[in-house]
Amino acid sequence: GTDQGNPLLQGLNPEQRAAVTFTGGNTLILAGAGSGKTRVLTTRIAWLLQTGQASPGGILAVTFTNKAAKEMVTRLTAMVPVSVRGMWIGTFHGLCNRMLRAHAQTVGLPKQFQILDMQDQLSAVKRVLKAHNVDSEMLPPKKLQSFINSCKEEGMRPGDVPVRDADSRQRVELYQVYEQQCQKEGVVDFGELMLRSFELLRDNAAVREHYQTRFRHVLVDEFQDTNRLQYQWLKLIAGAGYARDEQRGLACVVAVGDDDQSIYAFRGARVGNMADFVREFGVQQPIKLEQNYRSYSHILDSANALIAHNSQRLGKTLHTDQGAGEALRIHESVNDLAEAQWIVDEVRQLMQVDGFARQEIAVLYRSNAQSRSLESALITAKVPYRIYGGLRFFERAEIKHALAYLRLLENANDDTSFLRVVNFPARGIGARSIEGLQDQAKVKGSSLYAASATMDGRAGDKLRSFVQLIEQLRQASMGQTLRDVIGLMLEHSGLLAHYRAEKDGVDRVENLEELVNAAESFVVQEGYAVDVTSLPMDEHGTPVGQGLASQGVDLNAPWEEQAIVPVAQRTLAVQPAALDPNQSLFVDVDTGETLTPLAAFLTHAALEAGDNQAQAGQEAIQLMTVHASKGLEFDAVFIAGLEEGLFPHYNSMSDQDGLEEERRLMYVAITRARKRLYLSLAQERMLNGQTQYNVASRFLDELPEESVRWLTPKRNPASRNAGESFGGFSSTGGWNSGGRQSSTYERSSYSARQAEDVPYREGGRYGASKQVAYGSGPVPPQASDG
Ligand code: ATP
Ligand code: MG
Repeated sequence: GTDQGNPLLQGLNPEQRAAVTFTGGNTLILAGAGSGKTRVLTTRIAWLLQTGQASPGGILAVTFTNKAAKEMVTRLTAMVPVSVRGMWIGTFHGLCNRMLRAHAQTVGLPKQFQILDMQDQLSAVKRVLKAHNVDSEMLPPKKLQSFINSCKEEGMRPGDVPVRDADSRQRVELYQVYEQQCQKEGVVDFGELMLRSFELLRDNAAVREHYQTRFRHVLVDEFQDTNRLQYQWLKLIAGAGYARDEQRGLACVVAVGDDDQSIYAFRGARVGNMADFVREFGVQQPIKLEQNYRSYSHILDSANALIAHNSQRLGKTLHTDQGAGEALRIHESVNDLAEAQWIVDEVRQLMQVDGFARQEIAVLYRSNAQSRSLESALITAKVPYRIYGGLRFFERAEIKHALAYLRLLENANDDTSFLRVVNFPARGIGARSIEGLQDQAKVKGSSLYAASATMDGRAGDKLRSFVQLIEQLRQASMGQTLRDVIGLMLEHSGLLAHYRAEKDGVDRVENLEELVNAAESFVVQEGYAVDVTSLPMDEHGTPVGQGLASQGVDLNAPWEEQAIVPVAQRTLAVQPAALDPNQSLFVDVDTGETLTPLAAFLTHAALEAGDNQAQAGQEAIQLMTVHASKGLEFDAVFIAGLEEGLFPHYNSMSDQDGLEEERRLMYVAITRARKRLYLSLAQERMLNGQTQYNVASRFLDELPEESVRWLTPKRNPASRNAGESFGGFSSTGGWNSGGRQSSTYERSSYSARQAEDVPYREGGRYGASKQVAYGSGPVPPQASDG
């Protein structure tokens, strides 16, 4: 009809057009990545408004992130000249917040209720535990927090939670106390936003009917990742009877999703909501979009071939008219440092030679901790980058805590660091004690650390045992390598134990372990040897490096025999052959003074934390986890760390469901790329504080041969299944395993010179090799060939 000439619909394919203009009740658009689902949703809103079928106030649209919501609003305003103010476009949490604000009195909240983020919530939970004298060893605050959150996700108030034993009774009671505390303080957490808004709709007929009548059009993006409560909330908003009762004018719900991109099961996402939706919302025939507009066909074929290995699928097809494009490039590096370097080199090539825009390049990784080596290489290369949906490595809370302990070891008078960790992990040192301590320190003109000695009573005892902890650590660190110092600190401070006890602490534990790796590669990095003659001179015209001569460094000796590398802006590391390889020497370039490795490392960390994070508005390459990349697209995409144990992640490798979720993640990752896709892996990687030799990810074998090009020789994939061969052995002991520690000095050069010395342990898959003893033995041929 008249729609044919509508400019809004131009450029859409017939299926998309049909989806935009669909009027037959509720519907589900089930389609693969890049088929225009999000575009269809946005265009549909514009079309509804433009044709007068809906007023802005009659539309409710749910997106997965706040950023996606903003983008949708921007696109809309470009398409139709209409004020978006009355429109409800946002995330589930954002929309629930808006609803609760409007009905604060009805739901029993103060008009100005505050929202607790995860961190605030944790403090609130801690206060509950404390008030009830619950030992945090018995019930870690994080555990109670996630218990509360999953109850809420399931729509359960304390009274609804089944009580099985004394433990679960205690949790339910604490959940109740927590609720009372929040209520008294007028605060709500994220789960509460959703749950209370759900209850409002469920229990208050007038409010429910108001919204059901108002929102005649409900649109939901990324429907495959909704949880149970969100689905129930949608049912209430929509009005269950719509399909059969059009006169009442209740909402028409359009949900779009892709079961192959369901990647949030760990947060309660329920892909089964799609089938339930079809049944309960009376969907006649899900709409399918089969043309992909995002990627060239080598990329798309790879995604299709990969996901075909999953058994639990609703089944979709995807094709593209864009032409074959370039084959996927697969590159294997010797180790993780080399991988980061290779990626950065390629990124520069992409920008300088191939003319890709900076912000159109993304590097994706499975685990947050992987960003550290990438960040480091980008900083060195002065390429501005941004971490999308996350913090830079040295800005992450757990890393800042760890660094604060290290700073105290270097300088006990660092009050900022003292305050950061004196009661973290919790040691029963409360705010009142700290205030008292600060007063004391002021009177005496001393540091908090020093003032601790003079405090009275129980508070004094606790403060002194903290001081003692630091002193013991300092003692234990004497003569240890940097790696060992950090390892000792992580164990003795209780930081590792603290995060290990958290249900979702895996990421933080990985980051802490990555800090050990950071220290290790900091000690000596490969490939940065400098000509000493180019060193700055002191006022007598002597190269500052001359001071090294007294340390046994021969400034004229060849570089292979003594690694001299800049490790921070003004610091050099020197590791002459004459010295014990573990005894790197750090020299301040300005003063020529030697520094402790720890002091040098802390300077390095501080500089990296403050360094070239892209300025707001500045164009930067994008780093992010695969999870955070959902819904986004880039001209060029790198997927780093394609190794068994890393991607697929070892946590999810043991069962079929876990593995299929990993494969969906890989599908999401591949389908982010428009033009060029790089897949990267490393033979050897520092992971969890150990060197891992991982085989190539099985996902690489699942890609069609004609669509991929190996830039480096492809190793025999059969070895993955042969337990005896290259299946993941470790050369380096954990930091707490005692015995010989191999340094990065060996890592970076062992294949050339020291291969015979590298201890390793053979056999076992990734998971099995994690906490084992390490023997010595010959290096397998694969490792020494490289
Ligand atoms: P994902 O599953 O990754 O969220 P999606 O299905 O939501 O993907 P969109 O992001 O909406 O896909 O679209 C992918 C790309 O294809 C976008 O750049 C979009 O502008 C473009 N696109 C969609 N439909 C068309 C079309 N008919 N003609 C040209 N380009 C299109
Ligand atoms: Mg989308």
